[in-house]
Amino acid sequence: MSYYMPTKLFEDEGIVAKSGALLGSLGRRALIVTGRRSAKLCGAFDDLIAVLEQEGIAYSIYDEIEANPLISQCVDGALAGEGADFVVAIGGGSPMDSAKGIAILLKHGTDDYVEKLFGAQDYDALPVVAIPTTAGTGSEVTPYSVFTDAEQETKRSMARRVFPIYSLIDPRYFMTMRQRLRNTTMMDAFSHAIESYLSIKSTPYSELFALEAISLIGRHKERAFDEQVSLDVMKELIHASTFAGFAISQTGTTLPHSFGYPITFAHRVSHGFANAIFLPEYLKLCDETRVAEVLERAGFSTRDEFDAYIARLLAISVEPLTLSAAEFDKYSDMLMANKAKLANHPGALSWETARAVYEKALTSF
Ligand code: NAP
Ligand code: FE
Repeated sequence: MSYYMPTKLFEDEGIVAKSGALLGSLGRRALIVTGRRSAKLCGAFDDLIAVLEQEGIAYSIYDEIEANPLISQCVDGALAGEGADFVVAIGGGSPMDSAKGIAILLKHGTDDYVEKLFGAQDYDALPVVAIPTTAGTGSEVTPYSVFTDAEQETKRSMARRVFPIYSLIDPRYFMTMRQRLRNTTMMDAFSHAIESYLSIKSTPYSELFALEAISLIGRHKERAFDEQVSLDVMKELIHASTFAGFAISQTGTTLPHSFGYPITFAHRVSHGFANAIFLPEYLKLCDETRVAEVLERAGFSTRDEFDAYIARLLAISVEPLTLSAAEFDKYSDMLMANKAKLANHPGALSWETARAVYEKALTSF
């Protein structure tokens, strides 16, 4: 058993403005990695620029990260940041994950980039600072990066492990999330915590965080049906997401993530909702006693209540999908090929069961 969490986390309103010395300790030139709009909208971008300028730290900007980023965006980002000493990501999982890949290519060059990010040999990275603006992926405290692999028609975890050196959490940045984004990211955090707790790799250290994340999301689950939440509720949802990140940083994720990846790739269902679609069927494959603990922590008296909640949430979030028999077959093949996630699930999963889960989950919402 082990527990390893090297990321130093600071949470405070105005934390970025107060982090000049911290950023200055990482070097004289930064690359900022972010998406097109939201970092500017929520104020994080301006706060970061102000503190970099105040410290005399030069910077370049790569602000073209899209949701579910392509592997090749790491190359574009690294080329935009040549000469940087460190990388600062602002945004949700997509910019934070990309920053980790970019930080490897900035240090080791962009040639053979697929090999450097996914091959057997290890490569280290420049320091990465994460400024999260969504409460879901936990990428600010995990070593993982997930990219869209257009060739394999799914999403794929980078082989390298890059923990951010610092995470700067300002709860105000999350308040510009609309209801749908808030809900899909909340479902991502929920599935991280549940999958971690039910994983073969779960330990007393990871469980502490997983169960607390489940409780926090359980406490605020009905807020999913409100257009806006208060800053106090948002702070607890951020904690749930970060706690779930601590948990999966130790255990990884398991089946719902695997089931969801091709649905996100082929049908553009956002990541958190793609996980949520499979949670009810997944729970039926898991140990009953542990599932009962999850349900109790989340404030559901029965499995049916849980299923009804997920159905209610998906009904306001995702258009029903119609998939062909050939698609169910293909996605089941892909799921069986993702050995790492299968290995995290206690017990064996057959191709037939995987296919039945796909069919049942996708026809029942
Ligand atoms: P995201 O893909 O980073 O962002 C989705 C959208 O939300 C973007 O359009 C973004 O706008 C917008 N947005 C971000 N922050 C906002 C804010 N505060 N206000 C308004 N809009 C905002 O979303 P995500 O769910 O956080 O990340 C999903 C990605 O993370 C997936 O690729 C998933 O596979 C990965 N993931 C990683 C881990 C891990 O451990 N590393 C775990 C789970 C999932 P802009 O484009 O303008 O920025
Ligand atoms: Fe996830």
